[in-house]
Amino acid sequence: MTSHLETVRKNIQTATINAGREEEDITLVAVSKTKPSDEIIPILAQGQRVFGENKVQEAAGKWPELRTRYDQVKLHLIGPLQSNKVRLAVQLFDVIETVDRPKLARAIARISREENKSCACYIQVNVGREDQKAGIDPDEVDDFIKLCREELDLLVEGLMCIPPADRDPTPYFTLLKDIAVRNGLDKLSMGMSGDYQCAIQCGATSVRVGTAIFGERS
Ligand SMILES: *Cc1c(COP(=O)(O)O)cnc(C)c1O
Repeated sequence: MTSHLETVRKNIQTATINAGREEEDITLVAVSKTKPSDEIIPILAQGQRVFGENKVQEAAGKWPELRTRYDQVKLHLIGPLQSNKVRLAVQLFDVIETVDRPKLARAIARISREENKSCACYIQVNVGREDQKAGIDPDEVDDFIKLCREELDLLVEGLMCIPPADRDPTPYFTLLKDIAVRNGLDKLSMGMSGDYQCAIQCGATSVRVGTAIFGERS
């Protein structure tokens, strides 16, 4: 029987070929938020090594133990980060995808120095300018990227977005790509279970897929 993970991998492969891109340019981030370790282990056993979690505390409860059993695991933080959780986040995660405000960026920079561990950072952009969504406003993003790189010396690798629900994501993905190009950034984290093929068409270099791999979250 084909696993959900294999189906997602196949779909990524097809979308990548259709977009005229190379398979190694796309990273699948398996979003394991809310899922217990016994549901994550079968995914690790199928060779998946990059995972996304949206809560620092929850990740701290699962991943140190899983990492003792599987090596080469890379963890991405994909949920909002409060300043008081930055130290634990820096210790735990390889990539923080949700850097979206100066106060948080400053805390990550300071604590990374103290911990002598640098995380790769993605800047989260509120591409739909939605009040309830995290992310920096598209009008402020260029200055913010500059601050993160030049003043704070953060390892800014790319951009991340969550486009508005129930709308064609294409213009939002395209906006994120445009911001990346004009700022000389290579990495684009965009696309979830419902739209990862579209995101790959629009230039995603990583897609964050939860439900399509693990099933519905309760
Ligand atoms: C939960 C989540 C995902 C995965 O969503 P699915 O629709 O389950 O694939 C991706 N990105 C972020 C930021 C999330 O919070």
